[in-house]
Amino acid sequence: MSPALKIASVLLDEGIDRPLDYAVPLAFRSTCAVGVRVLVPVRGHPKHGTIIELKREAEVASVQNIIELLSEKPLLSDSLFALAKWISFYYCTPLRKVVQVMLPSGLRKNIQKRKQLFVRSKLSRPELLHLCQELRIKKPEQALVLDQLLLHPKGLLLSALIEKAQTSESPIKTLIKNNILHTEEMAQEASPIDEQEVFSTKPKTLRDEQKRALTKITASLEEGVFATHLLHGVTGSGKTEVYLQAINSTLKAGKNVIFLVPEIILTSQTLERLRSRFPEKIVLLHHRLSDGERHESWHEIRNGNVRIVMGARSAIFSPTPKLGLIILDEEHESSYKQQDDQPTYHARDVALMRAKLENAVVILGSATPSLESRYNADQKKFQLSSLHRRGNADLAQVKVVDMRLEFEKTKGFTLFSDALLDAIKKRRSLGEQTILLLNRRGYQTSCLCTKCGETVRCPHCDLALTYHLGEEILTCHLCDFRLLKLRSCPKCHADETLKYKGAGTEMVERALHAILPEIRTLRLDADTTRHKGSHELIFRQFRSAKADLLIGTQMVAKGLHFPAVTLVGILSADGALNIPDFRAGEKAFQLLTQAAGRAGRAELAGEVIIQTHMPEHTMLQLAAAQDYEAFFHQELEVRKLFSFPPFCRLAKVVFSGEKLKNVEETGKRFRMKLIQELPPSFQILPLVPCGHPKVRDKFRFQFLIKGARSTLLSQKLALVQQMLPAKRDVRTLVDVDPESTFF
Ligand SMILES: [Zn+2]
Ligand SMILES: [Zn+2]
Repeated sequence: MSPALKIASVLLDEGIDRPLDYAVPLAFRSTCAVGVRVLVPVRGHPKHGTIIELKREAEVASVQNIIELLSEKPLLSDSLFALAKWISFYYCTPLRKVVQVMLPSGLRKNIQKRKQLFVRSKLSRPELLHLCQELRIKKPEQALVLDQLLLHPKGLLLSALIEKAQTSESPIKTLIKNNILHTEEMAQEASPIDEQEVFSTKPKTLRDEQKRALTKITASLEEGVFATHLLHGVTGSGKTEVYLQAINSTLKAGKNVIFLVPEIILTSQTLERLRSRFPEKIVLLHHRLSDGERHESWHEIRNGNVRIVMGARSAIFSPTPKLGLIILDEEHESSYKQQDDQPTYHARDVALMRAKLENAVVILGSATPSLESRYNADQKKFQLSSLHRRGNADLAQVKVVDMRLEFEKTKGFTLFSDALLDAIKKRRSLGEQTILLLNRRGYQTSCLCTKCGETVRCPHCDLALTYHLGEEILTCHLCDFRLLKLRSCPKCHADETLKYKGAGTEMVERALHAILPEIRTLRLDADTTRHKGSHELIFRQFRSAKADLLIGTQMVAKGLHFPAVTLVGILSADGALNIPDFRAGEKAFQLLTQAAGRAGRAELAGEVIIQTHMPEHTMLQLAAAQDYEAFFHQELEVRKLFSFPPFCRLAKVVFSGEKLKNVEETGKRFRMKLIQELPPSFQILPLVPCGHPKVRDKFRFQFLIKGARSTLLSQKLALVQQMLPAKRDVRTLVDVDPESTFF
């Protein structure tokens, strides 16, 4: 650094959002740089922070000295730092919080070595049981941890505990701090790398469409300037092979790759293909890595040893040097958006900004591109390549069944239409497989008293409880509250008046066995996949023909390839069509099209049966025709008519807290202030309860803002947030470009 720059502006990890100035002692001047980690005094206590600026003069008269430099090199490269600043501005989030999201926590706390810790309970079994029940609602993550310690009374390794409890390290740390658990160090074990035997494969010959797409992408890669390619390809059209060959060009040019996927559990097939094609080092980042493992991967990536990083949305922040290519597979998936915490970033938009800063190329791939991306291709912001053909199979035949007629036929409710049952039987006799989709888990989806008319609801959320037959309990799908099956009505206390209604996946499985006792089924939903590895196990069993039929929620519609599946049944398309949200039509089209894409991907022809009460619904018709272009143009007209993205910028502000009055008042005050700040060209909608008005004992309100696509909205939202500091009991969440206006 220049000797004149003797003041460092430091962003603390915790506590204060605005940066503080410190003097750089002479000894540190040569190594001090933006992005370097430091220890600084704050009211007499040493605190961790990051240097965000070096300057000649301080903002205040007297400044203290930096105590210590914690890293020799900056932890954030210049371009990642610029990216952090953009995210901070665009998503109205203090830079401190953005840096927190970008750097793994182990790194921030300067953990050096991975330690193997063994965790035991300090409490007796009855005490533990009691505490576990107490924590179930308020601290469900902690309860999950205690569940595991009840199952393993002798204790277990920290890493095993995290995996089994399916949680992060933080609830465990809290339990240790609260003197409920204790840990001891164990000897270092060998690092658990999932080294599998891989058979190397060679690039496949591309079909013409694939070749044309790859040629465009390689041209951008060779030019070495920022470009975005939208690869629109129907399921089975060979997008992955295009990715692989684009990766190959990137690696050969000495550059590195970030490969984003919507969900880690669906990556096994793609990861296998990457590993068999490229001997270079590949790292999979997932949320169950321990702090130590994450820390280690981070350094490996930054040192350039890792050539391909694969991961979910936060992998877009990996410190990959010489970035050449970013791939977002299934770019339309909403899991790319962080929705419950600030910054509410979308990995796609962050990827575009990062690629722009680092002159990299982005490939967005999807069978059903998001409306925004497809629109950007129309506007020539993205280069569009379409893959219409499936490798060696035709598109599946789709049939829509009107369930109103089926109900008339059977004089009552039925889960399966005759057409669907016949088709299932036929597939079974041919030794082919079927997938059934129903987007509701559990046995029956509500419980109602026939005497007083009351629906049994969660005491903590405004939601009807779902009955699960296997465990004989009623549960809340928002907070996991559990209640033993009721004998009498909780409101009027009448006996034998409770009636259960609505079917979930558990009932579908039972009902099917009642009709076809011989059929072998597997079920894939959040209930059957609570444990790590259970997805893979179910997929593996199904693939190796251990079952004739797979029943599941939307998880079954995504990603994986089962060559013997020739029939897909969608038991009810109505739920997806009925959500009061501006993206409902788009999401329904995507789900139905993706589910249809599961049928007949190999040599066998496929069939899709969609059951509905609204056969005339346009979105359903378009999905049945698998006509993306018609869907796109129609939906674009609707968005234009009602002024929704991409025709405006949309933001949502959500307020939540335990006292209804305080939440509503905070919301009103925020909204009024924003009305004063923004010009009248912005439309500020009224404050209303959210789609889920109460979750985990917290009341929720929201309002929407629509306006021109300018930076003004972000600027003013941040300003109002600063003007109205959050009250302790009400949480304010600013969501720029929300995925949903309902939840
Ligand atoms: Zn009752
Ligand atoms: Zn609940």
